[in-house]
Amino acid sequence: MGAPEETKLSNANVKDVLKKYSEEATKRLQMRPEGIAQYVKLRNAQSERFRRLADDPWVDHAALNAQEPAVKDREQYKFLVLGAGFGGLLFAVRLIQAGFKPEDIRLVDNAGGFGGTWYWNRYPGLHCDIESYCYLPLLEETGYVPKSRYSPGSEILEHVHRITERWNLGDKALFRTVIKSAEWDNHESLWTVNMTEDRGPGQAQRNMSAKTQYLVVAGGLFTHPQMPKIPGMETFDGDILHTDRWNYSLSGGSFTDDNLSKLAGKRVGVLGTGATAIQCVPCLARHAKEVYVFQRTPSKVMSRGQRATDLEEWKTKIARHPGWQMERMSNFSLNCTGAAAPGTEDMVADGWTRAKCMGAIAGGGPQDRLPIPSEPTAVGAHIGALNAADLPVSQEIHDLVDRTVKYKDTAQKLKAWYPTWCKRITFNDEYLQTFNQPHVHLVDSAGVGIDMATPAGLVSGGKEYPLDLLILSTGYTSPSVAGLDVAARVHLEITGRGGRSFSSKWDDVGAATLHGMASSGFPNVFFENMAQSAVSSNYMEVLVNKSLHVAHVIAEAEKRHASLSNDGSGSKRTVIEVTPEAEEAWTMQCVAGATWFAGIRGCTPSYSTSEGALTLHAPQDKAAQFKAARRSLWAKGITDYCRVLKEWREEGSMQGLTIS
Ligand code: NDP
Repeated sequence: MGAPEETKLSNANVKDVLKKYSEEATKRLQMRPEGIAQYVKLRNAQSERFRRLADDPWVDHAALNAQEPAVKDREQYKFLVLGAGFGGLLFAVRLIQAGFKPEDIRLVDNAGGFGGTWYWNRYPGLHCDIESYCYLPLLEETGYVPKSRYSPGSEILEHVHRITERWNLGDKALFRTVIKSAEWDNHESLWTVNMTEDRGPGQAQRNMSAKTQYLVVAGGLFTHPQMPKIPGMETFDGDILHTDRWNYSLSGGSFTDDNLSKLAGKRVGVLGTGATAIQCVPCLARHAKEVYVFQRTPSKVMSRGQRATDLEEWKTKIARHPGWQMERMSNFSLNCTGAAAPGTEDMVADGWTRAKCMGAIAGGGPQDRLPIPSEPTAVGAHIGALNAADLPVSQEIHDLVDRTVKYKDTAQKLKAWYPTWCKRITFNDEYLQTFNQPHVHLVDSAGVGIDMATPAGLVSGGKEYPLDLLILSTGYTSPSVAGLDVAARVHLEITGRGGRSFSSKWDDVGAATLHGMASSGFPNVFFENMAQSAVSSNYMEVLVNKSLHVAHVIAEAEKRHASLSNDGSGSKRTVIEVTPEAEEAWTMQCVAGATWFAGIRGCTPSYSTSEGALTLHAPQDKAAQFKAARRSLWAKGITDYCRVLKEWREEGSMQGLTIS
């Protein structure tokens, strides 16, 4: 992290900038005190027209109906994995790598195919903003060389299929299916899992109940596309789509062809300016007659630096020795959080690693120089230090706007006033430039948002903007709702030992896990979750490590159970359960790091703050503060979290788990 004296900003400037941050955040919070209630999930929208926006545009019902279902009513499986995106696939692959057979595994997903977020999202311009060498998992095992530094969505989806083929998982998934509940059967040591398969228009839904020994919940973070509740929205006469379910019949082109020919002559509105909009606006601008970008809060945009993979560089500098990919992921996270020791190589060297501030929300950071504040008085100094390190980067981002955008007034409006960690940084070499074109209009509502919709278009700042097509780029339900309860996020009712509900436990005592992977009272359930776990700007690093850990735990427990069975002391099936003492001890370690994340409180609202709830409804009494602290992420960051887990595995006693 840069020291304060490295910034070009004078102290007076710093004070002004921080004041402006605070004013902007306050304005947004006052404008929308209802937090996440300002949104509705598309699935729950008032009218059929908006609910239909959540329909699966890519599913082939006829083909799926003709297939033998991978999961059958009343059948029993060893592993049921909720989610067939990269998360679910990585858990499956790691289990296979640990010695289990693909035949033991079933994946269940509500989408019509594999890929999770990369199944749903197929909007024009879609790329992953994390370097593909770090993001695309299992590159060493598959031998795949990404074509460029930042992969487009189509290449990522191809990689998803490469993984399913390589590990024989192609026919192990049941799609279009929602798992609704799971109940522990203590007698059989199995979970009874109830699910409903949607077989398409005109077909009856299929309700099923299957048994599984292990349940893995890998439902992803951004699962429910949402729209803001805007007065008059139902009256809008033009076409509408949500970016999470792009409708190419309205735009022309296809997932692999960005010639959006049907936009010719059209007035297109894009509502929202998050990471998604930044990627698709330049494509829209190439084809539409007019583009109106409706902005409430600007994103921070850094330059991308896309380039084709150089095979010589690949061989000599990137895939340079076995284990290179995990090493690169870790190096990336250390550099993005500013936690890399001075002199450490910056392998990726892009905007993320230049920003160096993501540790403020992801954990990590140079804790030798910036320790976790141990008492409330130290919190202010901690945030001050984070801001001091971030200010030069923020200044650089503003400078890029000034250098790129011709119209001064537009440039001013495109400048974001919050610390860089508050919203996902975006990267694009065309977005800012787009506003130099006369047919691209920034409609900035200065933090207020859209006034209303009319049959003709949207109204912002009292002015109506007539539109032929409205694109909702309004994101997803915040993954931090319900106190980061993983079951609530995917609407899954888990009933464990003694009839205890997972969500009620979470609600009563707060987060309670060992390693953020399992909770006592819920044997043989493992999950991908943020609470008490680590995160990274490269979420794939979390998934590859968590899945490795969980597969190790299960494989090792099964081995130990086999010897218990030999001497007759084990139960019929392996049962792995976290002890209450171990989960409390892990929880206390997370609580001890909670103050590290204080920098998020002052942020302008976004999904990271539950749309402002973290600030507006910050717990006041000690009990509520303690409960909130329990869901803290691993404050020392993902590299440290992986180290702790690795040492735990190497220690070998499976501390904190009972195996019976
Ligand atoms: P976001 O939640 O980031 O953006 C939603 C946008 O809608 C915001 O700009 C928001 O404004 C705006 N909005 C909401 N309500 C209103 C309103 N009433 N009036 C005006 N504007 C409104 O969603 P995205 O889909 O862009 O991104 C979600 C996440 O998906 C990303 O942060 C990232 O994690 C992931 N993603 C990852 C990518 C990758 O490459 N890895 C690429 C794209 C997305 P405001 O900011 O004021 O709330």
